[in-house]
Amino acid sequence: MFSSSTTTTATSSLPPLRQINVICKEAWGALPVAGDFTRHDIERITIHHTAVVLEENTLAPARLRQHQRFHQSRGWPDLAYHFMIDAAGNVYEGRPVEAVGDTGTEYDPTGHLLICCEGNFDEQELPPAQYGALIRMVAWGVAEYGVDPASVQGHRDVAATSCPGDRLYGPISDGTLAGAVTAVLPEDRTLTVICGEDAFDRVAGIERVEA
Ligand SMILES: [Zn+2]
Repeated sequence: MFSSSTTTTATSSLPPLRQINVICKEAWGALPVAGDFTRHDIERITIHHTAVVLEENTLAPARLRQHQRFHQSRGWPDLAYHFMIDAAGNVYEGRPVEAVGDTGTEYDPTGHLLICCEGNFDEQELPPAQYGALIRMVAWGVAEYGVDPASVQGHRDVAATSCPGDRLYGPISDGTLAGAVTAVLPEDRTLTVICGEDAFDRVAGIERVEA
């Protein structure tokens, strides 16, 4: 059997555009903000896990709602973190980036961009899709705020906690994450918060349990 092609694929001289679509808070069912924020400027990036094992990614949006309610029950105005990443690499909008995060541990999160991976990485493996999304999110933060990739840290670097779990802390502490971030930095990258029907459809798709 033969196949032939008389067409050639046009190639673009433009660099690839890396579009990060962040699912807005309304679409994942966040409650309204319950208090005042303190403003800050991002100077560093700190990575967290939720410390709750995520058995199925269909549960991820429900977990976000639980985390936000729990955080607000502690008297915090909103979810503690700025961005959340699920096991499939979906990125969700959290607290506004210009607002200081919150923590139950002994450190001052002022100036920290808080990126949190859903799951417990002392207990479970880090899914490749989740790690890939983390690389892209950290690369965005590094470029957006002029942060040194080598300075990206885990929560346990600044406070007495096991967060973000051994399997997520490993690539942070041994420079693997910083190397991956540096490798993708030359790419153009835009971050867009998507809302409306597209975002609600995305969440419905994530929550759908296949029969
Ligand atoms: Zn943490």
